[in-house]
Amino acid sequence: MSTPYRSISHDPAGNIDSIAIIGAGTMGIGIAQVAAQAGHGVLLLDANSEAAQRALDSLRARLHQRVNAGKAEAGETEALLQRITPVDSLAALARSSLVIEAIIEQLDAKQHLFQQLEALCSAHTIFASNTSSLSITAIASVLNVPQRMAGLHFFNPAPLMKLVEIVQGLETSEQTLATLQSLVTGWQKQPVICRSTPGFIVNRIARPFYAEALRALEEQVASPATIDAVLKDAGGFAMGPLQLTDLIGHDVNYAVTESLFHGFYGDARFQPSLRQKELVEANHLGRKNGRGFFVYSDPKHDAEQKPRPELPAIAEIQPSELKPLTPIKAIGDWSALPHFATLLQQNAVALNISTFGHKYCTHLPSPALQIDDVIFLLATGKTSSRLCDEIGAPIVQFDLSANYQTAPIITISAASQNTQQQTAKIICFLHALNKQVILLPDYPALLTLRTVAMLCNEALDALNKGIANAEDIDLAMCNGVNYPVGPLAWGEQLGWQHILSTLENLQQFYGEPRYRPSPLLRRLAAGHTTLYEKNDHAE
Ligand code: NAD
Repeated sequence: MSTPYRSISHDPAGNIDSIAIIGAGTMGIGIAQVAAQAGHGVLLLDANSEAAQRALDSLRARLHQRVNAGKAEAGETEALLQRITPVDSLAALARSSLVIEAIIEQLDAKQHLFQQLEALCSAHTIFASNTSSLSITAIASVLNVPQRMAGLHFFNPAPLMKLVEIVQGLETSEQTLATLQSLVTGWQKQPVICRSTPGFIVNRIARPFYAEALRALEEQVASPATIDAVLKDAGGFAMGPLQLTDLIGHDVNYAVTESLFHGFYGDARFQPSLRQKELVEANHLGRKNGRGFFVYSDPKHDAEQKPRPELPAIAEIQPSELKPLTPIKAIGDWSALPHFATLLQQNAVALNISTFGHKYCTHLPSPALQIDDVIFLLATGKTSSRLCDEIGAPIVQFDLSANYQTAPIITISAASQNTQQQTAKIICFLHALNKQVILLPDYPALLTLRTVAMLCNEALDALNKGIANAEDIDLAMCNGVNYPVGPLAWGEQLGWQHILSTLENLQQFYGEPRYRPSPLLRRLAAGHTTLYEKNDHAE
């Protein structure tokens, strides 16, 4: 899928040589490894006098294992380790050109640290915080020169994750941003720039990925394994949302959601899930302690966890009861679903899809197939039963997929008015396309469509408010949480009108502000602006 907006260049940067890292925990030692790997001398300080040496020792052991396994070169590894020096006083950091803080997540602790550093370091030293939830503006507010402070938000594990969010506080200078951007690029990482607002880019825009799955679970739409299979094997996401929250840890994931909920003054879009709260209360924290939505007999071995979805039981329907699938008519404009269109074209002769490309029946709300008397169409945000009432025909809706050609699974819902045979015709057709079928209850916008619509909405809200530009938003979501397509590119492909009507239908169905469309979505859907124009305002 091509990027729907032009790339944006930033100013060249100044020079950073010696780097200090404060806090030698999970993130601090990971960032130290990244910086040393790029050739910087790194001073490592921790409040706990033995922690920096201990962290360096365990990094040494990990890297030696890689050397022994033939995955790293001995000389380079030794040189990298030599470049990291544990120190035991702040005064030792006075000559550093960049100080990155990765200490405890407490505002007053971070403010106090930077105040001390400002008194010690040169006027040119840049200060960076790896905070994941605190305001950079608030941390920098205690400095005499807050222009030299920014967020440098690495993802865990820092040596492996490509994305680094560079966070601009209210006073952060363009020069500070440009210097950090050039540095991060030189470290072979992907920098993105965003303003200091709750969750920055990734932790804010990713909320619906978890929230919609948790809601579906609360509404008893499907088992955790089925929900994950839909998002992963049909939707195209790298991991199911429930397995991912198990991996992140429910304590951590729940706390991030709560902090965004409070950060946005109780906005319903970020409302935490009681279902997840219960897991935290039960100490079912996920993989790290052996139990979350799934059970992990050995938390160290991912392979043991193989959740399996339930597939619909259609055994009671005899194939002989079904009429031959002829002719199948393709209705409406399929250009928004290019992979599905190709799949249909590839099977047009074998399955007698006779009128593909012919546009008629424009009263249908999305691209559709007519298979005998049944209308099979992309989900719309209305239930199939309601569409059946409106259209006056048996209805089966299908869920969104990142790639209908390669996805092994397709997810559908059927109107309650359909006969079993009518729904079975669609299932047989999908089997003929070599797809496994997950038949969900009649749930509006199914699972992937509602998730993607909400991700698009959140991405557009961030863009509309100038938190980041469109290109960086999609880069962040693809590199920070491995989405198959950036939400803005996905929305542009599917069509903003379809995203808007999906959310409007969900909002009407639930009567909740959670699904309210972003003003920018309304303008895009009406054709009154483009992502390019909005980007120009964001710069
Ligand atoms: P951690 O608990 O593993 O390590 C924190 C270290 O900081 C400890 O070794 C502690 O002794 C030290 N420390 C505490 N107060 C100090 C002080 N005043 N001066 C010097 N050292 C001090 O924590 P972590 O997971 O590495 O997180 C560190 C920071 O990075 C936090 O701000 C966190 O929000 C952020 N972060 C964490 C993750 C993650 O997944 N763990 C990801 C991104 C950002």
